Amino acid sequence: MSELREVQVRDNVWVWGFDGDGPAASYGANCVAVVADAGVVLIDTLLSPAHARRVEAALRQKTDRPVRLVVLTHHHADHTWGAVHFVRQGALLVAHRACRERMAADHPGQLAARRGQAEAAELLSEVVLVLPSLTFDQGIGVHLGVEVEVWHPGHGHTPGDAFVYLPDAAVAVCGDLVFHRYHFNYQDADLAGVRRGLEALRSLDAEVFVPGHGLPGGPEVLQAQAAYHDAVEEVVRQGLAAGKGEAEVTGELQARFPGYGLTSALPVTYARVREWLLRPARGGRA
Ligand SMILES: [Zn+2]
Repeated sequence: MSELREVQVRDNVWVWGFDGDGPAASYGANCVAVVADAGVVLIDTLLSPAHARRVEAALRQKTDRPVRLVVLTHHHADHTWGAVHFVRQGALLVAHRACRERMAADHPGQLAARRGQAEAAELLSEVVLVLPSLTFDQGIGVHLGVEVEVWHPGHGHTPGDAFVYLPDAAVAVCGDLVFHRYHFNYQDADLAGVRRGLEALRSLDAEVFVPGHGLPGGPEVLQAQAAYHDAVEEVVRQGLAAGKGEAEVTGELQARFPGYGLTSALPVTYARVREWLLRPARGGRA
């Protein structure tokens, strides 16, 4: 496991993650801590208890207050499988109802399969699957001395997406509605929904946007993500028109976004965007 990257975005808000895009780096995902008077609200927990322990060690440099609440932005393993570490210490795990449903349905099989793969087997050996004990449909407010709003913007990156807004700090924690210098993962995405999710984030009075993967930034990270979706649609559409196959199209996407992490997501991008563009009556953009 490499060096933990720490970014302090406000007096009481920190973002931790690992540079890189493999399992040891938790695929570059972020974990965010909001330190309030009555305890810590943590948003996402990275891929494993080992990652969660690294975050906790960094958190303990800032405060000795307990982690009261862990909010999951969606069900993907790189955001959820470290949760057991904090739940065992008494934190309440919170997620959208559909996030909990996908965790219950998908994770046992996924964990068994991935423990059989050499690259992550050791890291995942101590994962214990835990489910959220508190769920919501539209949103939830947390009042622990700092106002924390959790909102479901509809099915965007996944059916159970949530983002977190700190109105007093003008910070939005976007989950995987926003990837910053990482390729977007369209595996479970609704392609019209990802744009609605970006609109919901844009409508906030936020100054700082923490992406699901990569470094925090200003509103430009939302613009970059919207432009990325445009570019992907255009490249796949033109590729289809020209009779190009997966390898050629994913190569073009890689060239279009040099230096972006998670190139391993590109074959899924090709398949999902192709399927969406070929759908006869899709609800998205023309
Ligand atoms: Zn994700």
